[in-house]
Amino acid sequence: MSKMPMAAAAKAEDVIRILKKEYPNSKYYLSFSNPLQLMVAAVLSAQCRDDVVNAVTAKLFQKYKTAADFAKLKEDDIKSITFFNNKAKNIREACRIVTEKFGGKVPQTMDELVTLPGVGRKTANAILINAFGKTVGIVVDTHVIRVSYRLGLTKNTIPEKIENDLMATLPKEDWNKFTWLMKDHGRAVCMAPVPYCSKCVLDKICPKNRVNEQL
Ligand code: SF4
Repeated sequence: MSKMPMAAAAKAEDVIRILKKEYPNSKYYLSFSNPLQLMVAAVLSAQCRDDVVNAVTAKLFQKYKTAADFAKLKEDDIKSITFFNNKAKNIREACRIVTEKFGGKVPQTMDELVTLPGVGRKTANAILINAFGKTVGIVVDTHVIRVSYRLGLTKNTIPEKIENDLMATLPKEDWNKFTWLMKDHGRAVCMAPVPYCSKCVLDKICPKNRVNEQL
């Protein structure tokens, strides 16, 4: 993990300080009450809005309780989710493995989690952080990718490399919060494809990398 040259980048600590003030209620966005529910919700959330996922899981979690239950998940129960066929297949297979290999409990290590279908490093980080309170990395979602790049906190576009850059730059105690702040800011102001730089609290410190059109 190499240190990022910060000359052409907003200062990470300033970004976090300013955004914490701007979004004081920033928090994890998927509803869950145990690690299994979080794993299922996180798999469903790929390329799907969180409010849609939360609406579906509110009913889903009433019907399916254990990993063995989810190993029999019916497509019909998640059909308002994007790519529901593929996600149902992944959830069934992941939950079969959790049942047979991990005694029905979601595993608590990155190495084990990424063996589960539908669970990549991003989802595994989200599970470890939010379900188990274990921070071993940073959740790099679409907002983190876009906003970090514009702010100059990374020059990479591949999630694993972005994660490494951010881990080298951000204080570890902020790794978790950083993703939530990027999401809030990415939705409210630093949108794709056109950000509202003139209304942005980071306007004075942001190099606006690859921002061509500003309002
Ligand atoms: S809205 Fe503009 S100034 Fe604000 S973080 Fe995004 S690119 Fe930077």
